[in-house]
Amino acid sequence: MIRIADICSAIQSYHPAPDIELVKRAYIYASYYHANQFRFSGEPYIVHPFSVAKILTELKADDKTVAAGLLHDVVEDTPRSLQEIAKFFGDEVAFLVDGVTKVSFSNVNLDADERQIENLRKMFVFMARDVRVILIKLADRLDNIRTIEFLPEEKRKRIAEETLKIFAPIAHRIGLYKIKTELEDRAFEILYPDAANFIKRKLDEIVPKSKKFIEDVEKTVSEILVKEKIENFKIENRIKGVCSIWEKMIKQGIDIDSIYDIIGFRIIVNTVGECYNVLGILHSYFKPIPGKFKDYIAIPKPNGYKSLHTKVILPEGYKVEFQIRTYQMHKEAEEGIAAHWVYKDGTPISESGLKIFSWLKNVLQLSRETPYYEVKNIGEDIYPDEIYVFTPRGDVKILPRGATVLDFAYAVHSELGERCVGAKVNGKLQPIDYQLRSGDIVEIIKSKNQKPKRAWLNFVVTQRAKSRIKQFISKEDKQVAKEIGETTIKRELRKFGLNFSDLLEKGIFTKVLEDIKVKSIEDLFVYVGMGKFSVQNFLRTVRKNLEILERKSEEQDKKEDQDKKQDQQQEELREVQLTGDLKGVKTRFALCCTPVPGDEIVGYITRGYGIVIHRADCKQLGHLRTDRIVKIPKQSFPEQKEYVSKLRFFTDSPEIISDIVKNLRKNGYGISSILSREVNNKFEIELAFKVKDSYDVEKVMNELKSTKYITDIQRT
Ligand code: MN
Repeated sequence: MIRIADICSAIQSYHPAPDIELVKRAYIYASYYHANQFRFSGEPYIVHPFSVAKILTELKADDKTVAAGLLHDVVEDTPRSLQEIAKFFGDEVAFLVDGVTKVSFSNVNLDADERQIENLRKMFVFMARDVRVILIKLADRLDNIRTIEFLPEEKRKRIAEETLKIFAPIAHRIGLYKIKTELEDRAFEILYPDAANFIKRKLDEIVPKSKKFIEDVEKTVSEILVKEKIENFKIENRIKGVCSIWEKMIKQGIDIDSIYDIIGFRIIVNTVGECYNVLGILHSYFKPIPGKFKDYIAIPKPNGYKSLHTKVILPEGYKVEFQIRTYQMHKEAEEGIAAHWVYKDGTPISESGLKIFSWLKNVLQLSRETPYYEVKNIGEDIYPDEIYVFTPRGDVKILPRGATVLDFAYAVHSELGERCVGAKVNGKLQPIDYQLRSGDIVEIIKSKNQKPKRAWLNFVVTQRAKSRIKQFISKEDKQVAKEIGETTIKRELRKFGLNFSDLLEKGIFTKVLEDIKVKSIEDLFVYVGMGKFSVQNFLRTVRKNLEILERKSEEQDKKEDQDKKQDQQQEELREVQLTGDLKGVKTRFALCCTPVPGDEIVGYITRGYGIVIHRADCKQLGHLRTDRIVKIPKQSFPEQKEYVSKLRFFTDSPEIISDIVKNLRKNGYGISSILSREVNNKFEIELAFKVKDSYDVEKVMNELKSTKYITDIQRT
């Protein structure tokens, strides 16, 4: 049972001139108004503020903080007002009580990601505004979690989760290790009872067995330090908390099997010099493990923690950690902020200012050491430019001071910003330009008819909102410009008798855009619409390109005519069917060279008339495009019974022709045609006759060659 006298004498033990009357009055006031209230445990409610006050004295808090601790639930849980607290106990106590009441996490979303949770921690510090509010909050939480067993399960889990995610890390950041460990372990047990039981069973098994080992280590080290003339040292051991053992198991993926994984030894000495001295001694007697030495004296941890850490291998092969520190460092590590308290004229001043609040300092960006009492309004000092606003789901958004409902909407989602017509702020309807304050719960109201307006730029403050609004407006402007540009271009083209779609189909714009260095036709519309690009310039380029195209197409036509002519020469060819690879291809025989089976042949690919088969030695081929000539294997020659072959020769006596014809018929070669014409007193004869293959042709040629009066015989 705690007595008020104990609280008062505790304050007097560390505070030179406390206002004991204030503390006593706070006690009486709180007892009176909580009188008919009880906790879940059945105890009178006052036991809770009383316990909080006691924890605060353990943290060496000043009289006003202890008084505020006693009064911290009065405003929230009784009809008493903050004004009354201020009247009876002064503005400072009222300010602290108000802070404790306001810093609430009952509606925050604890399932959020780590960044959001960090925002919640920042918000905690911001809302607290005074470090002493944080102390009272932590003391309050510590007592709540110590007595949590009487609460319903759901509430227990929620409190444990808040504790693990927000309160314990904050206790850690301000160096309250003992409180941090207790908060963490108690919360861990509630949230993960199986894991906690598992570790506890292991500890129950390991720790008693290790007693002798611990004594031996302490004895050995003690003897060494005495021998090395270190005076006034103290050796302690510390077994890790359940939660940090679990973290170690999870993070490093190891099982705990022995004491070495969970114990740390601590050597406390008088001076910093001795710390390094002891480190040297340990390293000369035991083998240090490389990479395990950490100098937190030269470079303290962000929360101000100082010590040397090293891990060595004992002669038996066990690896153990040693922390080496001075008594002052030890005190700071154990007491956190309270170690820096000094009391001057009854006002607590942190001895080294806010030096230990490196975390706070980072956000505070305080360059000089500031006496503690000067930063009562830490919220504004730490985050002069930020406000903390909640979504209805309990996520925190950090916005710059002056941010409006619209900024918030854009911060949640761009689409929400664009459609925002107002918001319910703490349940009350507010316009889009309403300036938000920390702690506001904001529910955006949207309409699908809403769209961003230029005037919005006059009141939004966030970069995100500004750029999204500008983006939207410029997109809209672009759309208008595009339409104007398109109309203008089409109209101007029409004046020259040109049609946009025709030109587009002809592909003329590709070249035009290249010439005027514009990426797309849409861009061109926009530029012309905005007056950034002259439509006359565009027309000039179109006409230039049209002329080029026309010239090209004339040339093309000419070329095509030529090709056609060549193809037409072979127009009156017979259609034939190739065998083998070329089976099915439309083919004809050339009339110029009349190929027959057994001849070397090639094919000429015509434009649209299939392949024309020539003899490989045909003179006509020299006039044809070589890239259209393809080799055709002899075997592909179309199968048919008769072919026509042509021979040409000269003679002086045309009367022999009847003999030749008679002779051919006799040998079975049918005559197709005989043409003759007179050239320079000679007769040129062209003889077409039917054969089976080139062997027949050869035979006939040889026969004619041996005939008198015939010269220059050859295949055509
Ligand atoms: Mn409370």
